[in-house]
Amino acid sequence: MTHSGTGSFGYTGLWARIDLTARKVRIEPADPAAYQDYVGGRGVQARLIHEHLRSIGPLKDPLSPGNRIVVGSAALNDTAVPTAGRGSCSFISPMTVSSGPAPWVPGHRPVSGMITHSSAGGLFPNMLKRAGIDHLIIDGRADKPVRILVTEGKVEILDAEDELFETVEGRKVVRTASAITDILTQKYPGSSTMCLGPAGWNQVAYACLTGDRHRNFGRGGAGAVFGSKNLVAVTAYGRAATTYFNAEEFTRLAREIDTQVKTHVADPKWTASFRPTTGTTWWLDRAFNGKYLGKQGGYLPWHNFDEGWFPPEDQAKVGTDAFLAISGRHHVCNRCRHVMCTRSAKVEAGPYAGDGVRPEFETVALWINCCILDRDALFHMNFLCNEYGIDTMTLGSVMAGAMDLTEKGFMKKFPGAPSFGSAPDMIRTLKDIAYGTGDVGKLLAQPSDGVIVEVGAANSGASLQDIARCITTAYGGLGYAGIEPKAFPGMFAAYGTSNRGRGDHTYAWTIQAEEGGLEGAGNLAAYVAGGQVGKALVDSMGLCDFFTEDHTSETFLALYHALTGLEYTTASMTACGRRIYALERHINNGQGRTRAYDAYVPPKLTVPMTSGAHKGRAVDEKYYGEILDAYYEHQGWTKDGVVPPEKLKELGVS
Ligand code: SF4
Repeated sequence: MTHSGTGSFGYTGLWARIDLTARKVRIEPADPAAYQDYVGGRGVQARLIHEHLRSIGPLKDPLSPGNRIVVGSAALNDTAVPTAGRGSCSFISPMTVSSGPAPWVPGHRPVSGMITHSSAGGLFPNMLKRAGIDHLIIDGRADKPVRILVTEGKVEILDAEDELFETVEGRKVVRTASAITDILTQKYPGSSTMCLGPAGWNQVAYACLTGDRHRNFGRGGAGAVFGSKNLVAVTAYGRAATTYFNAEEFTRLAREIDTQVKTHVADPKWTASFRPTTGTTWWLDRAFNGKYLGKQGGYLPWHNFDEGWFPPEDQAKVGTDAFLAISGRHHVCNRCRHVMCTRSAKVEAGPYAGDGVRPEFETVALWINCCILDRDALFHMNFLCNEYGIDTMTLGSVMAGAMDLTEKGFMKKFPGAPSFGSAPDMIRTLKDIAYGTGDVGKLLAQPSDGVIVEVGAANSGASLQDIARCITTAYGGLGYAGIEPKAFPGMFAAYGTSNRGRGDHTYAWTIQAEEGGLEGAGNLAAYVAGGQVGKALVDSMGLCDFFTEDHTSETFLALYHALTGLEYTTASMTACGRRIYALERHINNGQGRTRAYDAYVPPKLTVPMTSGAHKGRAVDEKYYGEILDAYYEHQGWTKDGVVPPEKLKELGVS
């Protein structure tokens, strides 16, 4: 690929290096080679974190000042391409940590946090771009609470005002994400804010950052990293328009792509056709009973992943139509068109009455996995997670594990621990986690190996293995997503090999392919690896996962050229995706990740399901091992899951 533009079309062309310890900001030209080779968003951020870790060595503690967190946008952001409003945030995750001895894991090797990329929509990423900065590269730790302001190309570190805090049980804690956003929006009319909530302030390992009230850099613990840096919020405001290498050509091609997206969303054979109506909650019925497209279902997790099925008479209470019934107007990311998955929601009456947004499929699925079948309570908990800044998905897995411990009698020394099926328990516990109050809240705020050790210490006579059997997030897991991990061997491999930690579903998605008959270790491995490359590019371009078109097609790459002046072929753009994925894995190898981490199968997932369309299914460890062998071979990694130097060289990782 050659670079025929000036180096900053599409991008702002500027990075801000922010040292919170020294309280200094340096704005510098972006490195054009980084945009050529790593595209933007996630890819460029991986390179910036690699550069940092090369100079300081592996990061032992993601909550130490040494963790770099990068927040930024991509070239397509704020253009007319549908769904291209997604920004990026990358850091070493405090949730995917397993540093100490873990005798409950055979062959355990310590890991000290994976590189995590989170994607968020809303307005914030586009506003950051309008404010004139592509990436905020944030290092160090402030000696007192601060916030960052980005306005019209200027970046400032400011003291966080007292009004952003309140006192809870004698401790100073930040206000909720919506309160912080309202205060800062009033100060800077027209701005957009991304902030932590109380959970981030208390450094809960899976705290998120919340933008525009309900858009989140969700997984991995970005909020905790902000909290560890004494950083409360980033507010952006600007009016700069995106620059185009060839504006006329871009407009012509953007119209063409817009028409293609519109056509696909209108076609009932496409999954995308459901997005404007049901959003991701479409999967609630599909995963349970296959209601749509004639598939079987049987993979909606239940009772801490024991089953993929539960009494059908209860399903309608929390099915797709139940959430459609409380849905209101579209409430979509800036410039999203046609796909438009998000809608506001309202519960009119009862203990959980209120306004908010409709929860996503993954959130609802993972809370059904806690046996919660109260739609209004699920809506309310989603609202609370946005207020407190907690990742709904990891919370679901952590909570299901705690409920399992309670059921098995291991939580007697932790009065008030949550029980399966109790929404009031779960609401009380999530508040305690966010505010760091009570023994249960403090226990569950940490990475899961700490939970196993503490519960073990409180249960003399119980083995750590028995306790760990309840915890699917053991050994630095991020938490499985809302597709039952026992149901699909390919999806289990996608969960196991995701660069952002065990359990992530966004880097590769195999469900439709496996339902369509895809099988065989080699085929599944290749499919997972291909999905991971595609997703690396989607995240690096600033697109949403739900963009319907091929982002490596000739037409799309011609549009990308008209925007940036960068020329790619399908092959050279795909090579960028491979480069990004290999670089992230290389970073994770440095953090201790090897086959041992990928291969870990939580023991309860080897017990077959007893009901539903996938009755009898469990994770087959031998078959999973074969898929891993094939996957490493496909990637050109060693049998231990390490990217060798010659592969890095071949891919152009430096
Ligand atoms: S499809 Fe949904 S998540 Fe994606 S950009 Fe549109 S509103 Fe945002």
